[in-house]
Amino acid sequence: MKVLKNAKIAALILIAAAIFCVWAGKRIAEKLPPRVENVDSLTVPKSGAKDVDLSLIEKHLPFGIPDGTTADINNPNSYLLVSEHFAISYNRSRSTPNWAAWRLTRADMGKLRREDSYRPDDRLPNGWNPVFPGDFSGSGFTRGHLCPNSDRDATTEGMASTFLMTNMVPQTYDLNAGPWLKLEEHLRNLARRGNTIYVVAGAYGETKKIRGKISVPTNIWKVALIFPDGQPPANVNGKTKVIAVDMPNISGIKANNWKDYRISVRDLERRTGNDFFPLIPREIQEILEVRIK
Ligand code: MN
Repeated sequence: MKVLKNAKIAALILIAAAIFCVWAGKRIAEKLPPRVENVDSLTVPKSGAKDVDLSLIEKHLPFGIPDGTTADINNPNSYLLVSEHFAISYNRSRSTPNWAAWRLTRADMGKLRREDSYRPDDRLPNGWNPVFPGDFSGSGFTRGHLCPNSDRDATTEGMASTFLMTNMVPQTYDLNAGPWLKLEEHLRNLARRGNTIYVVAGAYGETKKIRGKISVPTNIWKVALIFPDGQPPANVNGKTKVIAVDMPNISGIKANNWKDYRISVRDLERRTGNDFFPLIPREIQEILEVRIK
């Protein structure tokens, strides 16, 4: 009798525990935002899409595309351009990139002399009115690289590709030569020390249009995930080092430190409308996207 009674109690406890687990699981699921699976859309080329080399997407964006960017000509304001050197989300209405994404390692950097070979991007579909190098002149804004030439100066082709006008956003000189440059140099120093860095950099907002064509962003942002000692992206976890900044595109900030502009990835997601790293398990995103360091 006693054995039977104990078995009954054990069964009741198990049932109660099971009910609790289902309830708790539902509560957790309710609190998590829906998962965005943008990369999946790339595996199904849409009409008009150029062929996309998915291995290049995996190289530069192993954690997923942060918005609805596709290689679909009918998606002109989030149009994917990708090469071995970096990926671009181009915005035809803004005539600027939404963002650029690239993997940075020691091997990407060399000693080539900078050659300012600014030129229009002939990968854009016919009739898209590409930006020409002279379009910025007289505007008071510099042609600001999203993917910097110094991150790609191991090869002539790599460096030249950073001078495509699809990689440029109008930046104030003080931002471009100030805190923005300091963060670029910080990341290159980390890469020289053997870190692998996944960078996404972009722009949002609009103060005006140059020549009625090129949007001048209010803000320029960057997020980076940093992996030591050749660790692969699959090693991402709650302790992965993360840097996110949001910088105003204004004058008078040249002397400022990049660290003055540090924010959480989550705050940057709110400001840009992007979901960074959609392929990282949601519970890990919840940890590393709310950390400032
Ligand atoms: Mn995210």
